Amino acid sequence: MGDETLIVYDNIFLDHLTGPGHPENPDRLKAILRGFRKFKLLENPKIKVEKPQKAGVDELCLVHSRKYVDFIEEFCRKGGGILGTWGGGVVCSRRSFEVACYAVGGALKAVDEVLNGRYRNSIALVRPPGHHASTELAYGFCIFNNIAIAAKHLIEVRGVTKVAILDMDAHHGNGTQEIFEKTSKVLYVSFHQDRIFPGTGSIKDVGIGEGEGFKVNFPLPPYSNEEIYLKALNEIVGPILDRFKPAYILVSAGFDAHHLDPLTGLGLSSLGYVEIYRWVVKTAERLTGGKFSAVLEGGYDYEALEKAVSSVVATMAGLTIEVNDPPQKMPENLKNAALRTLEDVRKTMSNYWTI
Ligand SMILES: [Zn+2]
Repeated sequence: MGDETLIVYDNIFLDHLTGPGHPENPDRLKAILRGFRKFKLLENPKIKVEKPQKAGVDELCLVHSRKYVDFIEEFCRKGGGILGTWGGGVVCSRRSFEVACYAVGGALKAVDEVLNGRYRNSIALVRPPGHHASTELAYGFCIFNNIAIAAKHLIEVRGVTKVAILDMDAHHGNGTQEIFEKTSKVLYVSFHQDRIFPGTGSIKDVGIGEGEGFKVNFPLPPYSNEEIYLKALNEIVGPILDRFKPAYILVSAGFDAHHLDPLTGLGLSSLGYVEIYRWVVKTAERLTGGKFSAVLEGGYDYEALEKAVSSVVATMAGLTIEVNDPPQKMPENLKNAALRTLEDVRKTMSNYWTI
């Protein structure tokens, strides 16, 4: 098995233009690349960069309807515009359909290369993000649901039995939850800030029918920091994963849970991201032979993206870098609220899992 970490990236992801003042813009990826240069990550032999291929209609239609795919293509060909609202929908430019196809292709390449044994793990650094998009709806800066398509591809095309998705974005991945709401083949776990966009992902949203008990939501109070995340991962998510036994782990890699993020109020530091991804690496070693892939979602502060994404990639490759971004203190009342949330999740999930 290849021992390196794969970064899937292409400059084409800079060509999805959202107009002046939009938080989801090409500068996000430029900040990530600046971080890689600063921490000299790409010179390390344990990290490789490859370009994705463009996903085809059949791949998009693993999750989306043909009607929706055709509509997006047509909308962009005519010059694009705003689908939904500026803040809650998605701004499309002429090339956005093509770029979004490459973003899906990036997620697919990330999982295929690891599954084929060429790399230990992988991260797809793509735009537009995906976890708010559902079967027929562009939403929350997302056009196609990159990670959901990767999960479906793993199960339906590659014959992987069960997939776990950890959504570490500060917003609930309503699209991903909706797409897999009724299946027990995908365990979806989301950490997000309570009562912000899109407003879904309460503790009691545990899935429907066969999928009941396979959706785990942590709606956290503002300022929640790594201490809270690690406690939840170690005491609740880890034991559930041990029983679920995924054959593959996907991470919706949002970086807007960083304390500097302008859109949200959570409290992770770069060191916190290191601890979380160290946990993912260890969990993958225990359950999937080390195999996992991360796919970029949100994250809107450039300094946070520089530091935290480099920290995560280094951790995935088994490297340590010096980043000046220490853990943040959490106000006592909010910490107590967060601990109560964890307890409520534990209580709810104990109806389905021995935890
Ligand atoms: Zn987000």
